[in-house]
Amino acid sequence: MSYQLGTPDRPARIAIIGAGPAGFYTAEALLKRKELTLTVDLYNRLPTPFGLVREGVAPDHQEIKAVTRVYERLLDDPRLHYFGNVVFGKDIMFDDLRLYYDQIVFSVGTQADRRMGIPGEDLAGSFAATSFVGWYNGHPDYRDMQFDLSQPAAVVVGNGNVAMDVARILLADPDRLAKTDIADHALAALRSSKLREVIMLGRRGPAQAAFTNPELKEFAELEDVDVIIDPADLDLDPVSAAGLSSDKMAARNVEMLRVYAAETLPNAARKFVMRFLASPVEILGAHGQVTNVRIERNRLVPDPTGGLRAKGTGQFENIPASLIFRSVGYRGIPLPGMPFDEATYTIPNVNGRVLSNSGHEMMEGVYTVGWIKRGPSGVIGTNKADAVATVTGMVEDLPELDGAPDTNRDPASVEAFVRSRKPAYVTRDGWRKLDAYEVAQGNEQGRPRVKVTRVDEMLDIIAR
Ligand code: NAP
Repeated sequence: MSYQLGTPDRPARIAIIGAGPAGFYTAEALLKRKELTLTVDLYNRLPTPFGLVREGVAPDHQEIKAVTRVYERLLDDPRLHYFGNVVFGKDIMFDDLRLYYDQIVFSVGTQADRRMGIPGEDLAGSFAATSFVGWYNGHPDYRDMQFDLSQPAAVVVGNGNVAMDVARILLADPDRLAKTDIADHALAALRSSKLREVIMLGRRGPAQAAFTNPELKEFAELEDVDVIIDPADLDLDPVSAAGLSSDKMAARNVEMLRVYAAETLPNAARKFVMRFLASPVEILGAHGQVTNVRIERNRLVPDPTGGLRAKGTGQFENIPASLIFRSVGYRGIPLPGMPFDEATYTIPNVNGRVLSNSGHEMMEGVYTVGWIKRGPSGVIGTNKADAVATVTGMVEDLPELDGAPDTNRDPASVEAFVRSRKPAYVTRDGWRKLDAYEVAQGNEQGRPRVKVTRVDEMLDIIAR
């Protein structure tokens, strides 16, 4: 007879795939369960941990990045093992994990961008905002991208916080960015940028904007940038106006937008034009390169969920611009061998318990958390409660599970297996060496760190 999983005689063996905030909060919620004896192995595709905190959060938001201190403390826990530079679906497969772990949690986030589904989206000069974000943050997958910043104007489609980050980085004074951990290649490109105008397109009205108050306020703090809003866009329809009484965030947004609309800085070097009720219907080009964005003016109509949606009015306009950033949301992508819901771009689940592709059965001992569980919404901290919810189910399920074979339960056996598949896997100590290197480079320049942006260079530094 086997001992019960999670006891000192048979410690639970848990794998988490994806070392972003959702993965770390899952590890935290598990390690806090004092009644359980367990070990957690945290796998990550890149050598560097922290997911979007390192590669998504804007470099001028260092206070948000400070959350990594909490994750670093978790890495110190001897029950947690880090396996960086290990690609799920390539270096290790689901069936491999089944041989070594009792429970497997997917926290891989959303690695692609949503499409608008309009003609011209793939012309040269039209980019997913997510790739620009990866580029300025030194994500190895995006570091070699080229954005032609010699253009006078860029259009950002969508008005969520990612769109605001993109607009702000495009318009910010490079000397300010130079004090951050922005990737060196991005800083150099932004220093020679000729961009004078960024036009943001919100498909609905100011009361429905997806950005939050602090992100809107930051534009007042940018030097030499005039925020331009057509006051007519701030004449709210009766339903939007009434909705402000129960939506503090929207009410404060509208209040700030009114202040921006009333102020003009005619001599400002750069302009941020915030447009509302405008949807791109086509990206126009010449010789394969974007030249204009064709937009349709919208009005708001009730939607079946009780909100307001945008509906075209048949009034069109062309905005000249050769650089477009599509910032209409992130999208999850299927993992090899794992169920996937093509409608929601998530791993199908009930409270974090993964459902088989048929949707009728639970996959025993398989869970999900974060954006790949619920879609790309909320702030970093949202993932904490989300992780606790998934872990609650995991702990409930543990006594019922068969678990991995006894022959594979020694942590050394999985280490040997990972080494056989990926000799250059990165441990916590390897990451700490790279981290110390980056921070030391940063110290010399009065910056938080200078990021290493190529995987082979990261591995060289770790191996030294
Ligand atoms: P988001 O907040 O969901 O915003 C997406 C935007 O795209 C919305 O304005 C949406 O308009 C628009 N949109 C969607 N489909 C469109 C289409 N076909 N045509 C035109 N517009 C379209 O997504 P996000 O900006 O990618 O951010 C993801 C999450 O990360 C959010 O929860 C965000 O708050 C968070 N985040 C936070 C920070 C921060 O705290 N500083 C920074 C970055 C991201 P509708 O509203 O009309 O759908």
